[in-house]
Amino acid sequence: MFPRIRIVLIETSHPGNIGAAARAMKNMGLTALYLVNPLQFPHEKAVWRSASAVDVVENATVVATLDEALTDCQLIVGTSARDRRIPWPMLEPKSCGELAVAEHAQGHEVAIIFGREDRGLKNEELQRCHYHVNIPTGQAYSSLNLAMAVQVLSYEILQAKLAKDAAPQQSAPNAGVAGQDESWDMDFAQSQAVELMMEHLEQTLIEVDFHDPENPRQLMTRLRRMFNRIRMDKMEVNILRGFLTAVNRKGRN
Ligand code: SAH
Repeated sequence: MFPRIRIVLIETSHPGNIGAAARAMKNMGLTALYLVNPLQFPHEKAVWRSASAVDVVENATVVATLDEALTDCQLIVGTSARDRRIPWPMLEPKSCGELAVAEHAQGHEVAIIFGREDRGLKNEELQRCHYHVNIPTGQAYSSLNLAMAVQVLSYEILQAKLAKDAAPQQSAPNAGVAGQDESWDMDFAQSQAVELMMEHLEQTLIEVDFHDPENPRQLMTRLRRMFNRIRMDKMEVNILRGFLTAVNRKGRN
């Protein structure tokens, strides 16, 4: 039902959680599971816990890096049990479901990423995301079991799809935001193109002595947050790459 919405689990320790996440996904119509460096996989516990979602486990794409898991992705959402130092654009679980469904319907590739059982997602992983989602909890304990968190967000995706099918004339939650509806003339940039641009930008900022990697402060994080907030289209990335190349050429002459 949602071939272009992938669930990405990073460095999962317990194979049982992978199986339980697969089951949570299939119950809600999701099938694309990506595993970044799972500690134990394949594993019989993953199969047991998946019950009748063993196909989702068996078809999981196992990769070594988050970059590989995000190949072709145009909307990236990260999940987190706590607030981070630099605030990031946030979505409620319900609006996350609506946005994922709306973009999936437009043909975009969507990724929702989940962290390690003990330490969650690293800052650099969260900084790859356009939005962060926090599942509201009781104050005393905010960290859900990994598969339970997958369940909540998968549930919201299916609910959004059912609501959209029941009232198809309603506009998408992001309609009217530049670049976020069907009327935009360019496709959103894909993850790998944005990463190459960020590398090129960082190199150029160093070259022109604006950025000191020995004393980075939060420069690259802030620039990354800005570009993620804009959600550049393919043409905008190409223009920036061209501009950076021109700056490099000038600097080297
Ligand atoms: N101690 C870790 C918790 C990890 S729980 C931390 O503080 O980040 C494992 C994963 O489940 C998290 O990385 C996240 O992907 C998901 N998760 C758990 N609780 C969540 C919540 N309240 N909201 C959103 N995601 C949550």
